[in-house]
Amino acid sequence: MFRDMRRKKQCLSVEECVTILKKGTSGVLAVLGEEAYPYAVPISYLYEDEKIYFHSAKSGHKIDAIKQNSKASFCVIDQDHVVPEEYTSYFRSVIVFGKVRIMEDEQEKYRAIERLAMKYAPDDSVENRKKAIEREWKPLCMLELTVEHMTGKEAIELVKKKQKIDKD
Ligand SMILES: Cc1cc2nc3c(=O)[nH]c(=O)nc-3n(C[C@H](O)[C@H](O)[C@H](O)COP(=O)(O)OP(=O)(O)OC[C@H]3O[C@@H](n4cnc5c(N)ncnc54)[C@H](O)[C@@H]3O)c2cc1C
Repeated sequence: MFRDMRRKKQCLSVEECVTILKKGTSGVLAVLGEEAYPYAVPISYLYEDEKIYFHSAKSGHKIDAIKQNSKASFCVIDQDHVVPEEYTSYFRSVIVFGKVRIMEDEQEKYRAIERLAMKYAPDDSVENRKKAIEREWKPLCMLELTVEHMTGKEAIELVKKKQKIDKD
C-alpha cells in the first residue's frame, strides 16, 4: 500500500531523512481516531535505529486510537521557508508510516524515556534526569513506532540549488 513519490527529483535520500528525523524536535502523529476520523496530534519524539519513541499520558484520544489501531504515520517538517514573491515555500519534510506499540517492559520503557530526555535536555545531570523521570513515571506511557516506510521530499528550488552547488 505504500506509495512511491511522484516527483522523483524531489526525493530525499534515506540518509537525509534520518538526519532530519534526528535533528527535529517535534512532528505530527496521525492515528485513526473515533468514527474513523484521522487524529493528527503534535508531539515530541526520539528517532533511533528505524524506531520513533514518544511519551504520552496513559489515557486520552491519542492512546485510545492507538489501542484500537496501531497503524500510524508521522510527519516532521524540517524547513518551511516561505518565499512570497514566488508564491511558494522552500520546504523539506519527512513522512514515516509504521505501527505503534505501547511499551510494557519497565526496563525497556525506562531506557526509552531516558534517551528521549537526553535528546531534549542533553546538559542536565544524570541525577536530575533520574529525578525528573521518577516524578513522571507513574502516569507515563511510552510508545514505539517501527518505521515501515519512509520518504523525504524537498521543494524543487532546493533541488536546483543543490545541483548548482554540485556543478560549481
Ligand atoms: C510541539 C509539541 C510537542 C508536544 N509533545 C508532546 C509529547 O511529547 N507527549 C505528549 O503526550 N504530548 C505532547 N504534546 C501535546 C500533544 O499535542 C497532546 O495535546 C497531548 O499528547 C494530549 O493528547 P491526547 O490525544 O491524549 O489529548 P486529549 O485531551 O485526549 O484530546 C482530546 C481532544 O483535544 C484536542 N487536542 C489535544 N491535543 C491538542 C493540541 N496539541 N492542540 C490542539 N488540540 C488538541 C483534540 O481535539 C483532541 O481530540 C506536544 C504538543 C506540541 C505542540
